[in-house]
Amino acid sequence: MNKDVKNVEENRTNKKEMSRRSFLLGSTALAATAGVLAATAVPGVAKAADLGYKLNYEKGKPGQWSMMKPEADYGGINVNYVNHNKEWLGSTQITGEIPRYRQYDGGFMRSIRNELGPKSKYGTLSFDSRRYPLATGLATVYNNLATLCEGKPAQDKLPIPDPEKMSMNIKDVAYFLAADEVGIGLTPEFGPWESMITDKAGMMAGKPYEEVCKPNVVSAATHPYVIGILVDKHLETFLGSNGYDGISNSQSNRADMILSGIVISIAAYIRSLGYEAVASHQGKEYVVGTPVAIACGFGEQPRVLQATAHPRLGFRHKIACVLTNMPLAPDKPIEFGVKDFCRVCKKCAITCPAQAISYDDDEVVYNGYKRWNFDMEACLHFRTENEEGVCCAQCMKVCPWNSKEDSWFHKAGITIGANGSTSASLLVKIDDMFGYGTEVIPRFKWWLDWPELYKIKIPANN
Ligand code: SF4
Ligand code: SF4
Repeated sequence: MNKDVKNVEENRTNKKEMSRRSFLLGSTALAATAGVLAATAVPGVAKAADLGYKLNYEKGKPGQWSMMKPEADYGGINVNYVNHNKEWLGSTQITGEIPRYRQYDGGFMRSIRNELGPKSKYGTLSFDSRRYPLATGLATVYNNLATLCEGKPAQDKLPIPDPEKMSMNIKDVAYFLAADEVGIGLTPEFGPWESMITDKAGMMAGKPYEEVCKPNVVSAATHPYVIGILVDKHLETFLGSNGYDGISNSQSNRADMILSGIVISIAAYIRSLGYEAVASHQGKEYVVGTPVAIACGFGEQPRVLQATAHPRLGFRHKIACVLTNMPLAPDKPIEFGVKDFCRVCKKCAITCPAQAISYDDDEVVYNGYKRWNFDMEACLHFRTENEEGVCCAQCMKVCPWNSKEDSWFHKAGITIGANGSTSASLLVKIDDMFGYGTEVIPRFKWWLDWPELYKIKIPANN
C-alpha cells in the first residue's frame, strides 16, 4: 500500500466517519443561489476610493444567478447544495491532508520527459502540431495567450456593487463572452499548483526540477475566490465521432481556445476595477482543474479521473478560471447522485480501450481524499500513443451524463438515474438498448481525416 494512503487510512480510524448526506442541504435547483455565502472580508483589499463615480447597476432579486439567466441551468436535474467545509468538497470526501501538486508531476509532463517511452513522448509533443492541422490552429491561440494571464491591477479602485451583485455581474460578463457555464467558488487550498514549470525546453533537455520550476504566485490566501468557466466540447461532434479519431484532440483545443479568451478578458476586467486577478487556461495553468470545478459548483467527481460531471453537460466540457481577491459571493458545491449512479453504471470502464477505469463498486482513499481507482499510466499510454486518431475521449463519449441529444429522454433518463441504484441500473440498460454513447452518426461527421498523419514519428536521434 502506498505510504501516503496508509497514513491516511490510519488517520481515518481515529476519525469519526461523517455521513456525506449530513452535509447536503435539501434545496432544489429553483433555490439555486439562495445558498450563496455571504462573502467574508478579504485581508489586504482596500475600500474603493471615493472618486465620485456613480454606479447604476440594477438590483437583481436576492440569490438571483445573474441578470441574463435568473436561475442556474442544471438541465432540469434537481441538485443538493453542500456547505463549504474541511471534510467534504462537494460530494468528495476529504480524509486527510491533500498535498498541493507540482505541475512538473502531471502526466503529460512526465510523458515529454520520456518517462513513458519515446512513442508517448512524441505522441504528446505532436498533439498540437501538424498531426491534426485544425488542432494546430486552435492551439496557436491559447499558447500565444500564455503571456496575458497576469498583470498589475489599476491603482485606483472603481466602485463595485456588494459581493452578491458583483458575482451576478461576473456571471453575466461570462455569458456575454460565450461561456457555456460559470460558477464562483472559494479557492481550495490544494487547487493551485504548488510550483509551475517555467522552462519547458530545459525540462525536456534534462535540467533538474529546481532549475525549471518556480513557486506558484497564486494561492488560496492571495486569491481567495475562483471564477470557473465551462465550454462544451460539442455534442454534435461527439455524436459523429468514435471518441478517439482525428477530431478528438481538436474538441479539447476548441474549448481551450474559447476559454483562454474568456478568462483573459475577465481577469483584465477585474484588474481594471482595481483588484488582483490571474487567468488560468490551457496555455498557462495555475490550478488543478477538478477541485476548482467542484468548488465552483459545477458538479461531482465521477468514476473517470480528472473529470467533473455537471448535471446538464456531464463531463463533456473543459474548464478555465480566474483567481482573484475581489470580494465575491461564492456558490456552493452541488450533489445530484453521480456517485450512486457510477457505482452501478461502469459503462466507461467497459468501453475504455486502455482498460484504465476501475470496475470497483466503491471509491478508495488516495492522497487525502476518496476517488475511484484509476490506472493513469494506461490512460496516458493510450491517449498519447493512439494512431487511429489523436488523443482519446471515449469515456466522455459513452457516459450517459454526456452523450445524449438534448431530448426529453435525456432529461427524464438522468433524473430517474440520479435517484437510486435500481433506477440507475434500469437507465443504463435503456441507454444501451438505444445504442446511446457508442453510436457513430454519419450525418454529424463534418471534419476531414488524414489517417497517414496520425502515425507517430519518432526521430532517429531520440
Ligand atoms: S481517455 Fe480514453 S484511455 Fe483514458 S480513461 Fe478515457 S477512454 Fe480510457
Ligand atoms: S459512464 Fe457511467 S460509470 Fe462512467 S462516469 Fe459515466 S455514469 Fe459514471
